[in-house]
Amino acid sequence: VQHYLQRIDDHKHLNAFVAVYADEARQRADEVDAKVKEGKAGRLAGMVLGIKDVLCYNQHGVQAGSRILDGFVSQFTATAVQRVIDEDVIIIGRQNCDEFAMGSSNENSAFGPARNADDTDRVPGGSSGGSAVAVQAGLCLASLGSDTGGSVRQPAAFCGTVGLKPTYARVSRWGLIAYASSFDCIGPITRSVEDAALLLEIMGGADEFDSTVSRNSVPAYTKQLTLNRPLRIGYLRDGVESEGVDPVIRQKTREALDRLREQGHTVEPVDFPLLKHILPTYYILTTAEASSNLSRFDGVRFGYRSPAATDLESLYKKSRTDGFGDEVRRRIILGTFALSSSYYDAYYTKAQQVRRLIKNETDAFFTQYDLMASPVTPTTAFRIGEKSSDPLQMYLADIFTVQANVVGCPAISVPNGTDENGLSIGFQLMAAPFQEADLLAAAN
Ligand code: GLN
Repeated sequence: VQHYLQRIDDHKHLNAFVAVYADEARQRADEVDAKVKEGKAGRLAGMVLGIKDVLCYNQHGVQAGSRILDGFVSQFTATAVQRVIDEDVIIIGRQNCDEFAMGSSNENSAFGPARNADDTDRVPGGSSGGSAVAVQAGLCLASLGSDTGGSVRQPAAFCGTVGLKPTYARVSRWGLIAYASSFDCIGPITRSVEDAALLLEIMGGADEFDSTVSRNSVPAYTKQLTLNRPLRIGYLRDGVESEGVDPVIRQKTREALDRLREQGHTVEPVDFPLLKHILPTYYILTTAEASSNLSRFDGVRFGYRSPAATDLESLYKKSRTDGFGDEVRRRIILGTFALSSSYYDAYYTKAQQVRRLIKNETDAFFTQYDLMASPVTPTTAFRIGEKSSDPLQMYLADIFTVQANVVGCPAISVPNGTDENGLSIGFQLMAAPFQEADLLAAAN
């Protein structure tokens, strides 16, 4: 704990943490130490963990990177967080992220951008940017983030770490501040696949507080980290051929595929005809869900309230106008439009139908293959400010990550070398729902 607190102090310029629980972590370390001596330590004893600022932790602030939750203190702990605490993890602090997890760069945070430790003029990715850079720079051993369309995997790729998005409903969402409820997943960012497997094993499983969570039993992933059979791996042809993907990323992806082939796996190119429809589907449905989820932030019940309000309506308007940042407001407007009575069928219903087609096509893929491989991102970490004036450009960069969330599959990002400037590149594997054991073993 002392080591990590010192490193956090030495790396304040990365803006990875928005709150550090120094005294509490030291005290916890003593308690865990005593348990170790008594031989009663949990499976995560000694793991120093950071949590993204969207996870509730009783009696601690949480504000989803937003001004609108200024001063808000949680009254309960997220199930996923409680389960790791029960295994004696030590929580060292709360990590920077894009406001309400909307973004790919951590630039949409009320706390300012986090920075990539490989090049501090560049983004760490997002929305779990602080969580990824904290692991990259050794400010904690592991982090818990959330992934609605890539927010664990993309920053993990930009920061040379492992990022796991579990199957939808594998991990309880109780205590996770909602962005888009039918897409949101809590997932770990770690230095090794083994740590990701261990955290998932502990966080996963039924929870009486989340009726959507699966009751399927959670396999012992950490005992199955070695592959004992050849797998059938299909890779997205676009990922290694498309001009839209950096040449160095295409090259590194090909090399990773060659290594898998050399190890005896079947590796074949596939075309995914619906690929171009996945992003529009994702952005229509997630903004629709977000506009509904974020209606609870009205200046009455939580956090920020505009002092300039004169009546109830102006209280709502002014609190929301001041409290939300540009990107969140943009998405509330987009989502409200998609759900409005004259456009509902043309946008929301249509997107739901397309979501089903994408799901069917993905299911068909997994009848022939065990895993889908692709790059995680079309580029390496970009410069802070480079894309912030062009939201569409930023959305398009989510092309490889959103499919897993649209269909609910698990996916993982693992480090796959660097470009000529030493910037990290990720490699993505995706599996059929609840096939995390294969996914983790292959990633390992
Ligand atoms: N970049 C994507 C978005 O902005 C993903 C965010 C996420 O996974 N939370 O929606």
